[in-house]
Amino acid sequence: MSEKRTELEKLGEFGLIDHLTKKFKTSVPTTLKGVGDDAAVISISDNEALLVTTDMLLEGVHFNLMYMPLKHLGYKAVAVNVSDICAMNGTPEQITVSIAVSNRFPLEALEELYEGIYTACNNYNIDLVGGDTTSSLSGLTISITAIGRAEKKNIVYRSGAKENDILIATGDLGAAYMGLQVLEREKEVYNANPNIQPDLDGHDYIIERQLKPEARLDIVRFLKELDVVPTSMIDISDGLASEIIHICKASNVGCHIYDEKIPIDAKTSMTALDFNLDPVTCALNGGEDYELLFTVKQADFDKVKGNPHMTPIGHITDKNEGLYFVDKNGSAIELRAQGWNHFKD
Ligand code: ADP
Ligand code: MG
Repeated sequence: MSEKRTELEKLGEFGLIDHLTKKFKTSVPTTLKGVGDDAAVISISDNEALLVTTDMLLEGVHFNLMYMPLKHLGYKAVAVNVSDICAMNGTPEQITVSIAVSNRFPLEALEELYEGIYTACNNYNIDLVGGDTTSSLSGLTISITAIGRAEKKNIVYRSGAKENDILIATGDLGAAYMGLQVLEREKEVYNANPNIQPDLDGHDYIIERQLKPEARLDIVRFLKELDVVPTSMIDISDGLASEIIHICKASNVGCHIYDEKIPIDAKTSMTALDFNLDPVTCALNGGEDYELLFTVKQADFDKVKGNPHMTPIGHITDKNEGLYFVDKNGSAIELRAQGWNHFKD
């Protein structure tokens, strides 16, 4: 190492990944896709490929055990990985689970964590097939790898969007972020005065979206039933804006998305307004929705139109037209990702 020192904050998470991995060109013939999508794609036969993805959750960074029950944490750690397999239009089959744990945790705590993992394995129909266990100096870390399978012809990459394709988001957005705001607010109130009970009334939906997100494996099944293979897809983990930018960058295209089309649940909007936040900003820049964002050809649009789980939010344009968010007054604003930068406060 030289004397030079570059702060990670300058690169951001995605800049850092690019920087560290750019010289790793893939050379093994079975590696169909390496770094740069929701999961790696590995050929196993003429028609089929395995999908591999890893996500790590750290106490204090990704979860706070003051309001995150360990059972939910176990479930969520599996769900976020299943979500990345779904984003490739694949079916998850196995997971490995690695934990680093300090002696602050008794056996009962880890049993709770594994109860959540167990429930998720049952719900998503996957097997726990291994992992690793080690001690940590402080706190809890969980790293899960999920393995999935897909027919090669059905695999959907971030890079396949074409001009005039329709952009579709599943479910509704911004709820998990608002759930986190409510939980954080009540944590502050509790810290200030532990005699005051948390007031979570009326916030069940958004809190559940934060604590118990569900991967959209149902959408992968719907798409199959509808006989639609999206042209591109990504899961919405860092906020809609960041994911749209990933798709457009990978596909070398531009896009227009429309403010009034973005699906936001009424409870999310109401809570956002209570917090003096713009609901659409929460959908664009909040995180952890674990919905899917995909593009379909115009010719396939009739098959998904009107589906209650799928909302068209815009369309793909030529790269030279740029990436734009069109607000309620019809003004086009350039899309920027605030998303999460893990290296900034
Ligand atoms: P996602 O949000 O879908 O989980 P990430 O943004 O975490 O995806 O990662 C984007 C891509 O970079 C993925 O292909 C992932 O495997 C890869 N990646 C992330 N961190 C590293 C790393 N430290 N070394 C190599 N590849 C990485
Ligand atoms: Mg992803």
